[in-house]
Amino acid sequence: SKYTKEDIIRIIRENDVKFVRLQFTDIFGTLKNVAITTSQVEKALDNKCMFDGSSIEGFVRIEESDMYLWPDLDTFVILPWHTRHGKIARLICDVYKPDGTPFEGDPRYILRKAIQDAADMGYSFNVGPECEFFLFNTDEYGHPTTITHDTAGYFDMGPSDLGESCRRDICLTLEDMGFEIEASHHEVAIAQHEIDFKYSEALSAADNILTFKMVVKSAADSHGLCATFMPKPVYGQCGSGMHTNMSLFKDGKNAFYDPDSESGLSEIAHQFIAGICKHVKSISAITNPLVNSYKRLVPGYEAPCYIAWTTCNRSALIRVPDTRGVGTRVELRSPDPACNPYLVFAVLLQAGLEGIREGMTPPPPVSANIYDMKEADRKKLGIENLPADLIDAVECMEADPFIREVLGDHVYTKYVEAKRQEWKEYTTRVSQWEIERYLNKF
Ligand code: GLN
Ligand code: MG
Ligand code: MG
Ligand code: MG
Repeated sequence: SKYTKEDIIRIIRENDVKFVRLQFTDIFGTLKNVAITTSQVEKALDNKCMFDGSSIEGFVRIEESDMYLWPDLDTFVILPWHTRHGKIARLICDVYKPDGTPFEGDPRYILRKAIQDAADMGYSFNVGPECEFFLFNTDEYGHPTTITHDTAGYFDMGPSDLGESCRRDICLTLEDMGFEIEASHHEVAIAQHEIDFKYSEALSAADNILTFKMVVKSAADSHGLCATFMPKPVYGQCGSGMHTNMSLFKDGKNAFYDPDSESGLSEIAHQFIAGICKHVKSISAITNPLVNSYKRLVPGYEAPCYIAWTTCNRSALIRVPDTRGVGTRVELRSPDPACNPYLVFAVLLQAGLEGIREGMTPPPPVSANIYDMKEADRKKLGIENLPADLIDAVECMEADPFIREVLGDHVYTKYVEAKRQEWKEYTTRVSQWEIERYLNKF
């Protein structure tokens, strides 16, 4: 590993770090922090830091609430922004029970298990996410709005508006933290941006997404803007996706690449795609976790809504980009950045592994633009729709024992319960749309 305990203690001393944030996430991927002063660092590095898990959503009941944080030493980084109180570092932690076993409700543990299953088959799993987000103005009280003065569009350089300079700051900050930024550009919608960082092994890719969101939010804040990863903040505009590029490596080689096959794709890649296709509806509640997520997955906005894969057009759910050799990968285009990346990568990996284990065959690839097809033609080709809304997704999830198997009873039960509750709250509210449409008319 990158650092030893002694390294970390030394770096903290040499850099006069005042606080260390111990980070982990709840089952919905929300970043949680326990801040400690440096006097507690040795204790923390000995896995002796305790917190009360009962106040974290989806964690535990009151009577068994003591949880321990085990810092992952490789995630140590000094946050490059300054505060009045001195430097702050952070460590991402695994969550353990008092008896020294991993806590089943820790999303990082669920991903670790999937990674171990892959390792048992000789594979390592690499993920490269493409996170999109919006930068909006804040109002006079500093509260978020959906207002923007941005006028740029896809890949525009733009006049140097606030959004552009904020995006530059985000990239520089991430580089300070050791990220390799591969691309950063304005996206299709007004005020929408994308920043892509280099792929990495799945656990660190998920950690990176949390760090990324934290940096984006904090940079936006210091520019007087607000950043949102909400999937569809503005009606009639593109939403924000988190395209997920995946590949398996075996013996140092990309297992999705086969120079001898016509497409350059290996049998393993096909089986992996088959596994994802089989479970993609039932994992939607994980990849697209909000009521709002399903307002992005509609025709006309470059977001997928039909279940198909392709090597040649961008309308499909699963796309295989042209790159071959070591860069051969499968891009799933449905996930959105409101997801919990640990759970998403876990379910995707396990679905792909099932495809490999069972030697599954994917449906034939579709090269035509699916959005131009009539419903009847899609039916003939056996192209199904993704779930239409959150409750549809939750029902698909409940109908597929695979998800419960991957998430474990604890997270599965809490997750379904929370999403059903979210749906109920949403459907019983009276929306602005209803008022505008019905109030005067009836
Ligand atoms: N914003 C689109 C989405 O919702 C993606 C656009 C793109 O990156 N081509 O997924
Ligand atoms: Mg992109
Ligand atoms: Mg994009
Ligand atoms: Mg993409």
